[in-house]
Amino acid sequence: SGARVRRAQNTKLSQYLERGVDVKFTDVAGLGKIRLELEEIVKFFTHGEIYRRRGVKIPGGILLCGPPGVGKTLLAKAVAGEAGVNFFSISASQFVEIYVGVGASRVRALYQEAKECAPSVVFIDELDAVGRERGLIKGSGGQERDATLNQLLVCLDGFEGRGNVITIASTNRPDILDPALVRPGRFDRKIFIPKPGLIGRVEILKVHARKKPMAEDVDYAAVATMTDGMVGAELANIVEVAAINMMRDGRTEITTDDLLQAAQIEERGMLDKKERSLEIWKQVAINEAAMAVVAINFPDLKNIEFINIAPRAGRELGYVRVKMDHIKFKEGLLSRQSLLDHITVQLAPRAADEIWHGEDQLSTIWAETSDNARSAARTLVLGGLSDKYYGVSNFWVADRIDEIDTEALRILNMCYGHAKEILEGNRKLMDAVVDMLVEKKSLNKQELIDLVELHGCIKPAPPSV
Ligand code: ADP
Repeated sequence: SGARVRRAQNTKLSQYLERGVDVKFTDVAGLGKIRLELEEIVKFFTHGEIYRRRGVKIPGGILLCGPPGVGKTLLAKAVAGEAGVNFFSISASQFVEIYVGVGASRVRALYQEAKECAPSVVFIDELDAVGRERGLIKGSGGQERDATLNQLLVCLDGFEGRGNVITIASTNRPDILDPALVRPGRFDRKIFIPKPGLIGRVEILKVHARKKPMAEDVDYAAVATMTDGMVGAELANIVEVAAINMMRDGRTEITTDDLLQAAQIEERGMLDKKERSLEIWKQVAINEAAMAVVAINFPDLKNIEFINIAPRAGRELGYVRVKMDHIKFKEGLLSRQSLLDHITVQLAPRAADEIWHGEDQLSTIWAETSDNARSAARTLVLGGLSDKYYGVSNFWVADRIDEIDTEALRILNMCYGHAKEILEGNRKLMDAVVDMLVEKKSLNKQELIDLVELHGCIKPAPPSV
């Protein structure tokens, strides 16, 4: 893993130095290609001389962008750990002080220390706290912050021998940063760290399971499926809580069940943070239940993993997780019929709102799914898959937009009618699903199947086209 850099040893008492940072890239999971970019940053330290000799500019700062808990801090530490350099860190909210001048002098002190102990990584957490565009905050607090920001810019510019001190900052809002911060030579490199997907979650769970007594047959995929939308910090927590669960029961191994229970607790925790009135819970439940009840009528969509109405960051409503035939989906082999079914499912929330709340009490809860339906309908027409224009592929001409829209609208109306018919025929099932969702906030595959068996599911014939 490359040459190690000699760390300065004369580190006197430092406020910002974190001692004993020994994080490695293997401790950060689910990164995919991002890892390559970070390995390059390590090389700026380990092979800095080569870069300089060949005239390659080493970036002054790297911006790690992404929601809280995805591992931005962990990654910055891993860069320092892999390069074997000192790690200095400060949270930008610490800069923003009531007393004028304190923030700026802290920035100066931080960089002074980092320079003395170079090579080093300076990590600034929540950069947006101090890096918001200047002049946006009024009053003395704003002036103080501007002074701090100016000082930071001076420090970023102040390194002749680039590569000895590299600044890494994290933010969830790169869009609101002061333009001066992202100018070349400053934070001129942005790396986006998204929330982990299914495979990423499996990997993260496994990293945290490494040091725990896990049962041999733990089903990580099942846990990952149940934790859709969660980030590394939450997944790490789940493993910890599962371990406590095991200890409490006097067992010696952590099982899948421990993890699933812990996942539910984590989910609950998130729920409790967000208060919704019963009425709102019910509204969201109707929205999601409608999609599920309509979807179980269609071959490509009926394989529902779970329904969830717990709010999550970035996903205010709930969601229905359908297990799709991924190969078909990826290759674009979805049939015309499955596209129509998809549209019908996406229109179900709107139809349910009309049935359960009445035409004059409509909300906009279904706005997003209706948008999905609209764009799928256009795709269908443009692809030459609609009845009227079957096989007509040269549709992409401006003067035929009206025709396209008319045909798309016809399809939307047809699917909407079908969705409504399904929901009206299955009121009992709908009510049962909604009640259970409101009570438990989520339903798994088996629970849904049980309800379908109990109440039956009427399948109206598809509209004749
Ligand atoms: P951020 O800085 O993005 O808010 P952190 O780096 O502070 O997130 O993450 C908090 C903790 O969550 C980490 O210390 C680690 O235990 C866990 N974690 C987060 N992301 C990951 C990941 N990708 N792989 C492994 N653990 C992770």
